[in-house]
Amino acid sequence: MRHLEDGFGRRFPYLRLSITEACNFRCTYCLPNGYRKRAPHDFLSVDEIARVVRAFRSLGVHKVRLTGGEPSVRGDLIDIIAAVADAGVEKIALTTNGWTLARRVEAWAEAGLTHLNVSIDSLDQESFTAITGHDRLAEVLDGIERAMERGLHTKFNAVLLRDTQGKCFEEFADFIRFRPVSVRFIELMRTGDNADYFQAQHVRGSTLSDWLGARGWSAVARAADAGPAIEYEHPDYLGRFGLIAPYASGFCDTCNRLRVTARGKLRLCLFGEGGVDLRDLLQEDRQATALVERISGALSGKARGHDLAKGQYGDTRQLAEVGG
Ligand code: SAM
Ligand code: SF4
Repeated sequence: MRHLEDGFGRRFPYLRLSITEACNFRCTYCLPNGYRKRAPHDFLSVDEIARVVRAFRSLGVHKVRLTGGEPSVRGDLIDIIAAVADAGVEKIALTTNGWTLARRVEAWAEAGLTHLNVSIDSLDQESFTAITGHDRLAEVLDGIERAMERGLHTKFNAVLLRDTQGKCFEEFADFIRFRPVSVRFIELMRTGDNADYFQAQHVRGSTLSDWLGARGWSAVARAADAGPAIEYEHPDYLGRFGLIAPYASGFCDTCNRLRVTARGKLRLCLFGEGGVDLRDLLQEDRQATALVERISGALSGKARGHDLAKGQYGDTRQLAEVGG
């Protein structure tokens, strides 16, 4: 099978596919005023998704993450998961805010979902409500329990924020003491819309690694094909902490993922500009060869790394737009 490889010898077995820009939450760092429709909702159809995923599959991609916006606002999410499974993808992951998890996780797993990341920035009900705009922590946690019972590989995503650091680390440590789940803290990223918020809330990833180091947690050796997250373990805890620190030097060296937006643009970097439009080649099955060639040809344009630390965050207004 062919592989996707860029000019720096990095391989890309992992696709993050956004299926909508819409979301029902109002996370303070992402869509603080709620989602506003700026253009018609002509997001990729199930057929278009099937074609793009088959093309990436033929290029060695074996993991696809569905994201957004909030992917579960799409009424045809089950058909989308099934289409990705039909393309022969082994790992099918979903990143969700978890609002429908308790009701839907069974059907998603039935359709082929294997991995789940649920975004929970705090285990404190008040903080959760303040961050997301929704008093739904209990429902989301209930959904997570069901997902784990169903055998889905489940992780938490939490954004590292000045207001909740420390206290939040304690809460999650208690939570994972007897649960074999990983909670991954993502360093807050600057986007076009969040200048003031970023200024007020951004703290370095080392805030977490220092906290962990002082409490006996140690970094786990990484597999050669692992992505940019660093995981930490502790002999007294079943769960793990993870850290995604895009401002750290060397972060891009292990980049293993590509993105396709909900409107069918291939994005080579979360913090890049523009993208390679694939949509005209997603209309008929007979365009498959041209599609594969356009995708693999685009890889030569992938930069060695982003320039986030120099304040260059690309043209993304908020991560809901490209899928985080
Ligand atoms: N709605 C889904 C969710 O929240 O899980 C999927 C889309 S969301 C854009 C994907 C991830 O990006 C979430 O874990 C969210 O917390 C994270 N995120 C959003 N904006 C961010 C920012 N400015 N910096 C760091 N992470 C961010
Ligand atoms: Fe919605 Fe996810 Fe953005 Fe929160 S982080 S506003 S849930 S897209």
